[in-house]
Amino acid sequence: MLGLMQTQNLMISGLLTHAARHHGTASVISRTHEGTTHRHTWADVERRSRRLARVLTKLGVRAGDRVGTLAWNGFRHLEVYYAAPGMGAVCHTINPRLHPDDIGYIAGNARDKVLFVDLSFAPLIGAITAAIKDCVRDVVMLCDAASMPEVALAPGMRLHCYDTLLDASDEDYVWPDFDENTASALCYTSGTTGRPKGVLYSHRSTILHAYAVALPDVLDLRATSRILPVVPMFHVNAWGIPYAASLTGATLVLPGRHLDGASLADIFNTEQVSMSCGVPTIWLGLLQHLRSSGQRLDTVKRIMTGGSAAPPLLIDAFRDEYGVAVEHGWGMTELSPVGTYNAPKSGQAGLTGQDATRHMLKQGRILPGIDMKIVDGDGKDLPWDGKAFGDLKVRGPWIASAYYGDEPGSALDAEGWFATGDVATIDPEGFMEITDRSKDVIKSGGEWISSIALENIAVSHPDVAEAAVIAARHPKWDERPLLLVVPRPGHSVEPQSVLSIFEGKVAKWWLPDAVIVVPELPHTATGKIQKMALRDKYRDQYMRE
Ligand code: AMP
Repeated sequence: MLGLMQTQNLMISGLLTHAARHHGTASVISRTHEGTTHRHTWADVERRSRRLARVLTKLGVRAGDRVGTLAWNGFRHLEVYYAAPGMGAVCHTINPRLHPDDIGYIAGNARDKVLFVDLSFAPLIGAITAAIKDCVRDVVMLCDAASMPEVALAPGMRLHCYDTLLDASDEDYVWPDFDENTASALCYTSGTTGRPKGVLYSHRSTILHAYAVALPDVLDLRATSRILPVVPMFHVNAWGIPYAASLTGATLVLPGRHLDGASLADIFNTEQVSMSCGVPTIWLGLLQHLRSSGQRLDTVKRIMTGGSAAPPLLIDAFRDEYGVAVEHGWGMTELSPVGTYNAPKSGQAGLTGQDATRHMLKQGRILPGIDMKIVDGDGKDLPWDGKAFGDLKVRGPWIASAYYGDEPGSALDAEGWFATGDVATIDPEGFMEITDRSKDVIKSGGEWISSIALENIAVSHPDVAEAAVIAARHPKWDERPLLLVVPRPGHSVEPQSVLSIFEGKVAKWWLPDAVIVVPELPHTATGKIQKMALRDKYRDQYMRE
């Protein structure tokens, strides 16, 4: 027997109309390209998104069409986030930090019909025109008429000014209702190997994910929160914050293009931000700025770090020096993206000092609504003892079932689980800890060594700014760890002194066989260390010796 409850579709436009109706005066604040501050409200966002839906219709965008963006976190980008899915089209955020070849490939592969572009990326359009001229008909610059740049487009493509289009549009649009499983947004994985692959979210998956990330044991979002996503809106929907903010009526602060420590400290304090989210590199930059300038954070209470492993230094320094809690989360593009968050259960609530730090290095507990498990090489479940590590698999309603263009279900195993490509432990309390990407783990004499564990120890050396451990081929052991370190600015590093810091912290056979000091490490477009490039360069280091 079916229940007798209403079967209203979960619609992204519903998040926005809720925010406009019930939190209409709550602010959405943006740093603009020119460095000024733009202020409006959730009611304004809803009204303007309706105007934009009309603009999209006039540009020929129909249900299911892809609407591309190349933009920082700002109010106009937010309006595209809502208008495109609201009218049944797909908001396709493209990472502008990628190589132009990849950007051209991604826009072409998605067959974007319109591109919304921030002024910073106007020069990029020239570089990708050849790749997109068969699909993109309209390029809309996210600016006012006075700031319109010269952009060389292919014949047949049209250039527009966002504000001019919006000013000329009507507000009489009515958000349509349709199947909640309709595609809403598209995001390509960072593609550390091979070509990027698209993950196609739905209205339903987006809203369930927004509810989950807003929960008290995750971002703890409420109408009084003032949240600033440093994580870009082109990096997996800014981890769902633009949706979770309208869901809860939180004030949303969008930082624009300047994400250095000084700019962040300034906007955090000026806009009285209470909570922020971003990758560790961003927080290390902020920490460096605070330490060198003596500036304090007046209102920020919590920082979520994710995207790559949190270095212990980050957790210690923000807690002990600035009274800010650094909280660890994990996810991936295929998970919308948040999968786990490290919030204490009763057993961990009283942890302090180094015990608290050690615990916070874990990526956390699964969000309710989805599930996880770890399996060995034969697919058999491994125990949750915090020691056994194996391949991490996940399933649930905001996890991809296939990549864009593939058959539904084709990314899953026979039981419907998605293999994350991460290797992890899970402790008896359900806290998961990533030990590695499966392709980064070091297989030494048949045993596995975690590169992340070694990197965390290396960066606790006072003169080390950044560290990467890779598997280098070895004539006897198959693979052995090789450690690369970047010295802190103005410091030099002795390999022997780095090695001595590992003593007593790991088994002897885990010790890197060599330490190489390098001026910098390569990073991907989402700020992760590019281990592939390092492996290409140093893979045979031990074979040469
Ligand atoms: P992306 O799809 O680009 O967001 O990358 C997802 C991958 O980033 C995951 O599969 C992990 O390997 C890595 N990752 C994300 N968050 C964390 C974290 N907190 N600690 C370690 N690795 C992480």
